[in-house]
Order: sequence, then C-alpha cells, then structure tokens
Amino acid sequence: MTLPFLPFTRPSIDEETIAAVADVLRSGWITTGPKCAALEAALSERCSGRPVKVFNSGTGTLEIALRLAGVGPGDEVITTPLTWVATANVILEVGATPVLVDIDPATRNIDLDKAEAAITHKTKAIIPVDLAGLPVNRDRLYALAADYNLRVVEDAAQSFGANWGGKAIGSFGDFISFSFHANKNLTTIEGGALVLPEDIDPALVERYRLQGVKRTPDGGMDVDVLGGKFNLTDVAAAVGLGQLKHIDAFTACRRELAKAYFAKLDPAFGLELPPADFEQCNWHMFQPLLPQGTDRGAFLAAMKERGIGVGVHYPPLHLFTLYRNLGFQAGQFPHAEDVGGRTVTLPLFPAMADSDVDRVCAALAAVLPRKS
Ligand SMILES: *Cc1c(COP(=O)(O)O)cnc(C)c1O
Repeated sequence: MTLPFLPFTRPSIDEETIAAVADVLRSGWITTGPKCAALEAALSERCSGRPVKVFNSGTGTLEIALRLAGVGPGDEVITTPLTWVATANVILEVGATPVLVDIDPATRNIDLDKAEAAITHKTKAIIPVDLAGLPVNRDRLYALAADYNLRVVEDAAQSFGANWGGKAIGSFGDFISFSFHANKNLTTIEGGALVLPEDIDPALVERYRLQGVKRTPDGGMDVDVLGGKFNLTDVAAAVGLGQLKHIDAFTACRRELAKAYFAKLDPAFGLELPPADFEQCNWHMFQPLLPQGTDRGAFLAAMKERGIGVGVHYPPLHLFTLYRNLGFQAGQFPHAEDVGGRTVTLPLFPAMADSDVDRVCAALAAVLPRKS
C-alpha cells in the first residue's frame, strides 16, 4: 500500500467553516461587510483591543503600513534578505530604498546589531520578519526604534499565534502586519490584517484600503488620498472566523510536531536544526539546514519520490535579478546566503500525525548519507 503524498503544508478547514462560507454566498452580501467587521473585532480582541483592519493580502498590509508611516522616495527602510520577497518589494513599491543587513545565523532573523550599524539620517523604518514564526527580539527592536526614532512595521506574516515573553505578537508594538495566505497558520485563503498604532486614524486606513474614498453623510463622497484595492471579501472573512476558533489548538499541535521532529531526527543525518523554542515560536515551518555540500535539488526530488513534499523558504532575495540590478551582490550577506542555500521546509501542519513525522524521518534516513 502506498501512502498518500505528504505535502509540506496543508490548510485545515472544518465543515462548520465550509457551511459558513456557503451562508455568506447565499446571503446576497459577498464582498467586504459584516464578516470582515466581525473578523476585525475578533482579531482586535486577540491583540489587546488594538484597532485591526483586514486586507486582501499580507503584502497590501505591509505596503499600506509603510505609506501610513510616511515612508516614500528618499527614505531608507532596513530589512532582512532572508524572507519572502514581498517584504522588500513593498519598500520599492512606495518608492523608498531597501537597505538589507545580514541575519543572525542562530535565529535566522535580522541581526539587530547589523541593523543598528546600517542606520543613516535617511532611515525611516525597519521591517523585522519573524521567520518560521520565531519572533525577532522585541525588547532590542523597540529599544533601537526609540533610540533612532524609527517606525517599525513588523512583518508578522508568519507569526500569528506566536508570542514574545508571553505577550501575543500583535498585542504590542508599532504596525503589525499579518498574512492569511493559504499556507499561513491562520488562513482566509488570501488575506491579511494590519494592527494599528495609536497615532494612526483607522478611518484613514480604510481609505488607503479602498481607493481613498470617504463617504459623506449626504450620500456623496470625496477622495483625499491615493488608496488602492486592498479590501477583503466576506467569503474570505468567514474562513478566517472559522480558523480563529482553532488557532490556539493549531499552534499547540505545531509545537508538539516540532518537538517530535527534535526527538526523532537522528543526529547522524547531519541536519542543523532550528532554535528549539517551544514557548514563543508558533512553528509556522520546520526548517533544518542540509549538511554542507548536499545537492538540494536532488534531495527534494528524492524526498518527492518517497511521497514527501519539501519546500524551500527562502532563497536570499538580494540575489534575485531585480535586486542584483539595484546593486546587491553575492557574498554581501554570507549568513543569509548559507542558510538560504541549505534550508528545507519539512512537512508540518496541524492535521499531521506523529506517524507522519516517522515517515519523514524514514525518508530522510534513506535519502541523506549517514555520517559515521
Ligand atoms: C506570506 C508572507 C508575506 C506576504 O503575504 P501575502 O498574504 O502572501 O501577501 C510577507 N512576508 C512574509 C514573511 C510572508 O511569509
């Protein structure tokens, strides 16, 4: 008997959510409406009552956060090269200059010492990324932001459900951007949410979200800012509301699966494991590094042949053509290049069983040469 293919991730959508989606579809109101408002209220509750606005992507939330922070041409924004390319693309989108600094190889997140060293009089903001759901050190981050008067746009796309010292990511800080893409720990299929700081008017965020439109009491409208098309649908919000009921269980489940990997992965495989944080990290991904010199393409193919899906998140973005054309070069960020070159994402999602972890480990045993 061959077992079904085990993907590196898969969303868990329950029947109640599917029924709720059908209800929205039958309701006559399918785009932004009461379900989006309900999702915003529920998310706000998880973020210690801070205002939250839902968007149609976690890229849109980042872009609008930068606009709200007043970032534009002539400004520099510091971020990491080891992230989904959206993080840096939005900096270009608003006309600012991305300033990349290397990662700390221990956490694989932005090295805040290097970030501090890269600050100039043009630096307006910093975008830290909680890679795989492991939070960037928020104490150090916000001390830095205060010292240099920088805005922070937390790219928490991967860290919904994670916490820093027991405080939920999103419940404190400046701008917090979540993604609800299909692969994220909480999904709306596509979508995102922006948690707002005190100095930002939520009504302005709504205008940036939808064509800058401001409704007037007499039924007319005005447009005073250049907004875009970033609103979420009620169909998507219904999925998010269904997911929210399970997010704490999802996170607990992910932590247990990560622990199972740590217990079962034979050190003889020579894999370098991620930081063993089972308290703060939400284990959005489980990412060991392959032994130096392993042919990753051949490894991916061999695992696939054994029915195991393995992902790569992420090649360092400064080596993409768009960024090379801006002047970035190989060798500039050695830690990001090393980690990005060897990282693999093994299957980890809430519906996985412990026996699936065994399956992955057995496939690794067959595929990786054993170190004596
Ligand atoms: C998913 C992701 C994004 C973008 O989110 P979308 O909802 O896909 O637009 C941004 N940054 C990181 C780190 C991500 O993982």
